[in-house]
Amino acid sequence: MAEGAPSVPERLSFLDEVQARTPGESRLLMCIQCGTCGGSCPSGADMQHTPRHIFAMIRADMREEVLSSNTPWYCVSCYYCTVRCPQDVHITDIMYTLKRMSLVGHSYDSSTAPDFSKMFINWVENYGRAFELGLMSQHMLRHNPLGVFKIADMGIGMVTKGRMAFTPKRIQGMAGLKQIIAKAKELEETHD
Ligand code: SF4
Ligand code: SF4
Repeated sequence: MAEGAPSVPERLSFLDEVQARTPGESRLLMCIQCGTCGGSCPSGADMQHTPRHIFAMIRADMREEVLSSNTPWYCVSCYYCTVRCPQDVHITDIMYTLKRMSLVGHSYDSSTAPDFSKMFINWVENYGRAFELGLMSQHMLRHNPLGVFKIADMGIGMVTKGRMAFTPKRIQGMAGLKQIIAKAKELEETHD
C-alpha cells in the first residue's frame, strides 16, 4: 500500500455483520442447533428455513440465501423461541436484523411483508404508535384492493365496539421519541 493511502476496512463476514447489526448481544455463536426454536415457532411450518437452519446458514456465510428467505418475514415477534432457547440466543432480535438487512438490499422477492413493515414504522415515526385501521387500509389498497370489501365489516365492527380507533392519535412526548429515533438512525449509519 502506498504511504499515506487510506487503509481499506476488512470486509466483515456475514456472521460478523449480523452480530454487529443486532442491538446488544446476539449470542448467535452460542447456538447448539438443538431445534427448540423451530419446534416452538407458530410460523415455523410456513418458513422456508427454521430459525435453527437460518443460524447454521449464517455461520456458513450463505448471505444471499438467508436474506432472500421468507423466514424473517414470517416471524411475528412473539418471542416464544427466545424464552425457550436453552442458550439464550436473542433469536427475535436477530430476525429483526435480518429483516432490516433484507430491506436495505432488496433481497426478498415479495414486497408485501416489507411494505407492511415500512408502513408500520411510518405510523410509529409520525404518531408514536401504530394506527391499525390506517395500516390495514393502506396495506390492502396497495396489495389486495378487492380484499378491502371482505374485511370492511370486520373493521366497522371493531371500530364501533371500540376495539380499534377510527382516527390516529399521537402520543404525548412525541418530541422525545423523535430524538430517540434520530439517534438510532445516526447509530445505524455508523455501521454502514
Ligand atoms: S433454540 Fe437456541 S440453541 Fe436451539 S437451535 Fe434455536 S437458537 Fe440454537
Ligand atoms: S419470535 Fe419469530 S421466530 Fe421466534 S417463535 Fe415467534 S415467530 Fe417464531
